[in-house]
Amino acid sequence: MGIISSKLAAVKPSQTKAMTALAASLRAEGKSIITLSQGEPDFTTPQNICKAASDAIAAGHTKYTAVAGITPLREAVVEKFQRENGLSFSVDQVTVGCGAKQLLYNALVASLDEGDEVVFPTPCWVSYPEMVKLAGGTPVAVETHVQDGFILQPEALRAKLGPRTKWLMLNSPSNPTGAVYSHRDLEALAKVLRDFPDVWVLADDIYEHLVYGDTEFATMAAVAPDLAGRVLTVNGVSKSYAMTGWRVGYAAGPQDLIKAMNTVQGQSTSHTSSISQYAALEALTGDQSFLPEFRKAFRARRDLVVGLLNDIDGLSCRTPDGAFYVFVACDALLGRLAPSGKQIVTDMDLAMYLMEEAGVAVVPGSGFMADGFIRISYASSEADLRKACAAIGTAVSKLTEQS
Ligand code: PMP
Ligand code: GLU
Repeated sequence: MGIISSKLAAVKPSQTKAMTALAASLRAEGKSIITLSQGEPDFTTPQNICKAASDAIAAGHTKYTAVAGITPLREAVVEKFQRENGLSFSVDQVTVGCGAKQLLYNALVASLDEGDEVVFPTPCWVSYPEMVKLAGGTPVAVETHVQDGFILQPEALRAKLGPRTKWLMLNSPSNPTGAVYSHRDLEALAKVLRDFPDVWVLADDIYEHLVYGDTEFATMAAVAPDLAGRVLTVNGVSKSYAMTGWRVGYAAGPQDLIKAMNTVQGQSTSHTSSISQYAALEALTGDQSFLPEFRKAFRARRDLVVGLLNDIDGLSCRTPDGAFYVFVACDALLGRLAPSGKQIVTDMDLAMYLMEEAGVAVVPGSGFMADGFIRISYASSEADLRKACAAIGTAVSKLTEQS
């Protein structure tokens, strides 16, 4: 009998992390690799936020905090939800954790019994199905399609809901597709959910500030206030404020659930770093003027990358409305031969070929439960993006049809 539990044996490591780690090890061997595999803004954390962190150290805020997070930060989260989303919460309805990732996990651990089902649209973020399994639940994927802009269709949702469904996980703007759910899209889903009073909604709004098209950001608790009693809204500072390494996320929802999530956290991580919490407080309450600047830069990069990739024979992608990913169809290339004679059979083969031949790290679509795609993060400098797309184009042009 081995040491690893049977539960864990069914859980896959994160593909975004795996491809990024592989890129780092190749770089350490001296290979030149451009990493477009991890969704992480290349901007540095704004100075006022860094200063708040050093001030916190100087002031001695280096001790344990309350499990749910320091009160001023939770108050700032309450104020953020009111100001930006029109949502009213009390401080007790807010919890802070080690990134949105930890809060999603805490919520699942706090709520799932063995075999409970969690429904989510695919393509989905790599961690959703694996977190559900870790928490003892059963992941249930609902496919979305490029012709619907990768938006979950109400009848497709209805077909997957049943007596064991505990949650619908929704992520808008979406990782990996960049799809943004409009107020109308969410209202159509809310209509279905009203027929299933025991199904809760986990709204993952981590890319809230990264919306570029005409569709305005919307979130379920605000679109359908009658459902707010069964919605957990999760967000964080990682993506909007270029704070991925600080590990601060927050969640707000019904008090019973928040309390249970705090129990999970209190018995596992305790809380996120006290210093990071003071930094996040400054992020939410300080100068917000760089948010539109970041957004503008991402939008320009999106347009650049979409144009360059669609010019490559065999690759195609739609223009995503949000987040900082392009989800590129590569099925036309599958079956072709690399110069080495190796056949590119899967999107994983293509991702490995691009790593070796083009020196570009991307993530295969299969990691997001969508075969025949690759995901490219455009949260990198324009110069790197141009170089990477050119190298991808050259590598792809070397693939030949099997005779
Ligand atoms: N949700 C989605 C969809 C993500 O892409 C990420 C990125 N890591 C997260 C949640 C978690 O972000 P963090 O833990 O850095 O707040
Ligand atoms: N969410 C980011 C991504 O998808 C960061 C890595 C991760 O946590 O998976 O690339």
